[in-house]
Amino acid sequence: MRVGFGYDVHRLVRERKLILGGVEIPYEYGLLGHSDADVLVHALMDALLGALALGDIGKHFPDTDPQFKGISSMLLLKEVKKLLQEKGYRVNNADILVVAEHPKLAPFIEAMRENIADMLETETDRINIKATTTEGLGFTGTGEGMAAYAVVTICKNPAS
Ligand code: MG
Repeated sequence: MRVGFGYDVHRLVRERKLILGGVEIPYEYGLLGHSDADVLVHALMDALLGALALGDIGKHFPDTDPQFKGISSMLLLKEVKKLLQEKGYRVNNADILVVAEHPKLAPFIEAMRENIADMLETETDRINIKATTTEGLGFTGTGEGMAAYAVVTICKNPAS
């Protein structure tokens, strides 16, 4: 068993879609970034790459590379899953925390869990997603941005 940790932050701006866990969430602001800026999936990918000791998403998907401009982060997650499989591992579980003052994410959490479980070829009950506010404090509290943290454990596949 191996453990990985990930953290990411993106700025909230007007005229961007808000995509979290591959789900488009109706909101007047969205996250700014080279890709779709899915901060939740970015934290998760960094955690998976960390568990594999394969660096970070900046190394695998540089934001200077035009092929990743506007790309769905779920497609990047698919690439990370391939690396996981190539190394002979599978996801044991993931716990992901999104830090955002608004909007309320509860109605979208199940769809996010299903998206991520499907992409990682695992069961939904191995993927936890939760959200918190920071009580108005800091950049997440003012709505300047969102942050996400992820912890994952991965297991070696049995030898076949
Ligand atoms: Mg990011």
